[in-house]
Formats: sequence, structure tokens, C-alpha cells
Amino acid sequence: MATAREFLAHVAQTLAQIDAEGLTKHEREITSPQGGRIELGTRPAINLCANNYLGLANHPRLREAAIEAMDTRGYGMASVRFICGTQDLHHELERRIAAFLGHEASILFASCFDANGALFEPLLGPEDAIISDALNHASIIDGIRLSKAKRYRYANSDMDDLETQLQEARNDGARFILIATDGVFSMDGYLARLPEIRNLADRYGAMVMVDDCHATGFMGPKGAGTPAHFGVHIDLVTGTLGKALGGALGGYIAGPQAVIDLLRQRARPYLFSNALPPAIVGAALAVLDLVEDADDLRATLFRNTAYWRQGLEDAGFKLLPGEHPIVPVMLGDAVLAQEMARALDALGVYVAGFFYPVVPKGTARIRTQMNAALTTADLDTALDAFRTAGRQLGVIR
Ligand SMILES: *Cc1c(COP(=O)(O)O)cnc(C)c1O
Repeated sequence: MATAREFLAHVAQTLAQIDAEGLTKHEREITSPQGGRIELGTRPAINLCANNYLGLANHPRLREAAIEAMDTRGYGMASVRFICGTQDLHHELERRIAAFLGHEASILFASCFDANGALFEPLLGPEDAIISDALNHASIIDGIRLSKAKRYRYANSDMDDLETQLQEARNDGARFILIATDGVFSMDGYLARLPEIRNLADRYGAMVMVDDCHATGFMGPKGAGTPAHFGVHIDLVTGTLGKALGGALGGYIAGPQAVIDLLRQRARPYLFSNALPPAIVGAALAVLDLVEDADDLRATLFRNTAYWRQGLEDAGFKLLPGEHPIVPVMLGDAVLAQEMARALDALGVYVAGFFYPVVPKGTARIRTQMNAALTTADLDTALDAFRTAGRQLGVIR
């Protein structure tokens, strides 16, 4: 039998291996609020890697609403929802999220990671099937693992493969079939093909679940997300308060009343984890007010996105095509992606390099993300830095 000391040696060896493969993730410390411009100690930087799409993460109205809620409802709930952790504000926020997304009801979680962990297990059993896109977010994969439903996987956005899997699930005698997909695949910025997915689902009598974390607040009319963008109804939608909707914390599932009611009875991350604190809930109500009225911010976001794309293309960088504010700059080699990120960092531009195993081998990239807090001057400065670093490293001429 191995000892605890041997266990620690084993852990240290795993860490050394991660480091030797060049896969260690280092956290850089930000000493300012999140925004278009941030501070890293005494160094200012333009931030191109936050999920702060609408630039609301430090909005004065949200800080004010958080303080207001804290003043009237206190700091913490010290309870799960069903014991003594539900305030009027929680129910109000659940109604608001449902209305915003065009669903009957919604249920709050501590995060979207929890929402995805909660969704599948109570709703589907061994007689049922879940068909999942191969590039789905880790939390969907984990959530599906927790359910007893039979699992099927289709190649990313491959509609022929999805149909094959639907046939397979039917042939295997599945009772209920649920297709699960990200609304936006965040490494590429590609949108899921929701109209075709909806169509196939209807033909095979399946339901669809969309995780819309990288879309809610800015894609589609009023920012209602990818279903609204495509004009299709999706049976179950999960999302986060941690990206465009203020960027703090919290997740939700929206769908039919009966499904939400059952999740309230059975979803383990809901039953056995603390209620969201009033400050977050109060600010989330305020963020929905802002977002429903934020056509100007959405216009700025997409104007920035078009300007940024054009600037990078003109400089000679290779991009993935698309319309989403995620703009991946393709570099191929993992070491090059890391060097590029480092060079940009030295030039005051904060970006993140992504490489295997997060993306397939040979497709390393800098994933840039636009937001409404960035000014044209910020983008010009960042483009200068990209040109300088790109020439230094021989990425562009
Ligand atoms: C960010 C993200 C999550 C996790 O959301 P949290 O609220 O931060 O837990 C889940 N799914 C997708 C697709 C995401 O992008």
C-alpha cells in the first residue's frame, strides 16, 4: 500500500509532467476592475480575452444595484433554496430570465457549470438517449455523464452525423431523445446550426438543449441569444450570469414550467448547494433592464468586431471566418501561440493562447474577443501591437 507521502510525490510528478509538456496555465494578476483597459500591477493593458461582451462587468448601475440589494436583503443566504434560501428577488429574477429568453420558467444555479451538471440526470433515464455535439463544453459532457441515459455523439456541427445518431437512437429503442449543443462553440466562435438541428429534432421527435453562455445578452434581437438570432424555439436553454450579463456569477436553466418544477425537486446542484447571494441577484435584475435596452452596446460590439477582423485581415493574419465577437487568430504551432501571447503581453495587449488539448493539435491560436468597452483607439493600439509581434515572430510580413 502506498503512503500519503508517495501520493504527494505522485502529484508533484504529474505537475512536472504538465510543465514539461508546456501545458501549465499561469494566472496573471489583474489589479483593476475588469474592462477594456485593465491594470496588471503598474502595467496598463488592453484586454482582448474577457467574456465581458457588452462591457458591463464594472457598470455603475450594477455596482449600485448590488449594494442596494445587499442593504435591503443582506450579504449571504446561508441556506439552499428550499430550506430558507429563497428571497422574493430570486423568484423575480427567475421570472425575468424566463421572460427574457421566451420560456415559461427558469431556475437559478450557482453557475452554468452547475446548471449543465443538473439538467440531464433528473430528466432522462436509461430508456432515453442524449445526442451530444463533439465540441460541447466540459460542463455539458460532465452533466451527460451524470445521467443514466444512453449517450451518442456527433461530429461538430455535422448534420449528417447528427441524423445518423438520431436514427441509431431510434433503432436502439430510445424513449425520449435530447440533442445537446453549445449555442456558440467558443474556441472557434462558430454558431451551432440551430435551424437544421431543430428541423432534424422535429423529424425524429427529439428535444433540443442549447447552452447559450457565449451568446445571451448580445446575439439575436434584444440579445436573447442564438435561438432568437435564428428565430427557432429551443426546448431547454442554459446560460450564465458570468459573461455578457454582468460577468459576476450564476447560471440558469430555462424551459417549460413542468420541467423547471421537476428540476427544483430533483436537481442535485440545486438541492445541495447554497442560494445565490442577494447582491448578485439584485445586480442580475438590473443587468436584464440594461440588456433589454442595450441595442447601442450591441451595435458597438459588432462594429468593434467588424473593425477588428478587418484590421487583422489587412495585416495578413489568418482568421477563422465568422460574425461572432470571438475572433481566433490562427497560428498552428503551440509554442508560436505562446510566444505570440507573450510578445503581445510585453506590448500591453492581454490575450490568451489556446493549444492542444484545448483545441486540436496543429490549430493553436490566439483567441481574441471583442467587447463594447473597447474604443476604436484601443483597437488601433492593439492592431499596432499585433502587427509588431506578428512581424517579430514571422507570422506576417
Ligand atoms: C462559460 C461557460 C460555462 C460555464 O459557465 P459558468 O457560469 O462560468 O459556470 C458553461 N458552458 C459554456 C458553453 C460556457 O462558455
